[in-house]
Amino acid sequence: MVATITRFFTIEEGEPTMTLATRPRGTNDILPADAELWLELEEKIRRVCHAYGFGEIRTPIFEHTELFQRGIGDTTDIVEKEMYTFTDRGERSLTLRPEGTAPVVRAFLENKLGSGPLPVKLYYYGPMFRYERPQSGRYRQFTQFGFEILGSDDPLLDAESIALPLELYEACGLDGFEVEINSIGCPECRPAYRAALVDYFEPQRDKLCQSCQSRLDRNPLRLLDCKVKGCQPIIASAPTISEYLCADCTDHFSQVLSYLDVLEISYNVNPRLVRGFDYYTRTVFEVKYAALGAQDAIGAGGRYDGLVEECGGQPTPAVGFAVGVERLLLALKAQDKLGESKKSPLAYLIHFGGETKLEAARVAHYFRKRGIWVEMDYMDRSMRAQMKAANRLASRYVLIFGEEELAAGQVLVRNMGDGQQELKDLQQLDELITALGACEK
Ligand code: AMP
Repeated sequence: MVATITRFFTIEEGEPTMTLATRPRGTNDILPADAELWLELEEKIRRVCHAYGFGEIRTPIFEHTELFQRGIGDTTDIVEKEMYTFTDRGERSLTLRPEGTAPVVRAFLENKLGSGPLPVKLYYYGPMFRYERPQSGRYRQFTQFGFEILGSDDPLLDAESIALPLELYEACGLDGFEVEINSIGCPECRPAYRAALVDYFEPQRDKLCQSCQSRLDRNPLRLLDCKVKGCQPIIASAPTISEYLCADCTDHFSQVLSYLDVLEISYNVNPRLVRGFDYYTRTVFEVKYAALGAQDAIGAGGRYDGLVEECGGQPTPAVGFAVGVERLLLALKAQDKLGESKKSPLAYLIHFGGETKLEAARVAHYFRKRGIWVEMDYMDRSMRAQMKAANRLASRYVLIFGEEELAAGQVLVRNMGDGQQELKDLQQLDELITALGACEK
């Protein structure tokens, strides 16, 4: 197996040799230094969601398979080829969630969230699972931050659903992304468009790839999403939905665009943009970051006015968006906007075993109980090696627990910045903490 190490994610090429120390293909370990960056990003997500009045929802990692079959659509790639479905010991068919919208709709209905004030604004953050061919930016377990607004068809909410993730991208320092938007109509106008697509593609069926030929029979709109080179010239001349939108959809879409203008959000209307889920109606959008290459979508979403009803609820219009967190981190890395983790311990406690180690352990415990990060040696290393360790961690101070100082109830404190040293009283640890200027809590 060849492994390409990007800073974050390892992409395996070819079949990996299975050993106990090999993680499943398409998954990632997030190591402590990178976990700091994830935490920073998560904080930004929570801050932006707070400003827009969203509450967090946490749904199960697995759901009944039928929820996704009905919700996402039987003829979509996700349901046909990508779900991690298993039968549990009670013979139930369950599926690791491939996306967050259907679970949120299920939870909205099950917990009767629609009985309160509308719209209901919910956001989620967590792992999703799809059996896809792994490559840079495409994994089998990946993380999505997403949100859903249920209970209103106000086109302003479509515009705000684009504004919120852009706020997040900007808060991260990302620029150069592009918003693509389209309307794919509603159950009123889509059948006519579907028929027009069939009329257009049918005479050219033989020139289409195998998947497109089957899409033509099952879900012709999905043809527009094909990435196969040979299909592109045919797709390029296909009829566009804009000619088929009903008056209501046309009006809704033009209002969405007006609100985007008011919010000063630039966008490209892409009449060929369709999404891989059947539940979308009217507005669909995608945010792209070109430097990511083939997997350039850093977020996507749209309106789904029929899904709540499809899942057994009252007609409830809704709109939502999902951000691919790994891809966002890759985009930030491409722009060199990630920085390094700057965290370091306040002090490294150097000891020489025996009594000095006992005292260092007592002092370390005292600091840590107060939320202050201190480190000490657990390998019985020499003083030189312990100093090296303190330097490597960029510890701001070292506390040297020498036998002589200890006998006098003192510890030698060295400021690693300017090299100044001073003896401090070990009976007055609170004063020592103040002297070191710690306020890490
Ligand atoms: P989707 O749920 O397919 O609309 O995807 C929403 C966003 O999730 C995409 O724009 C990507 O940023 C991200 N995403 C989707 N699938 C994957 C995957 N297999 N690996 C990593 N990120 C993904």
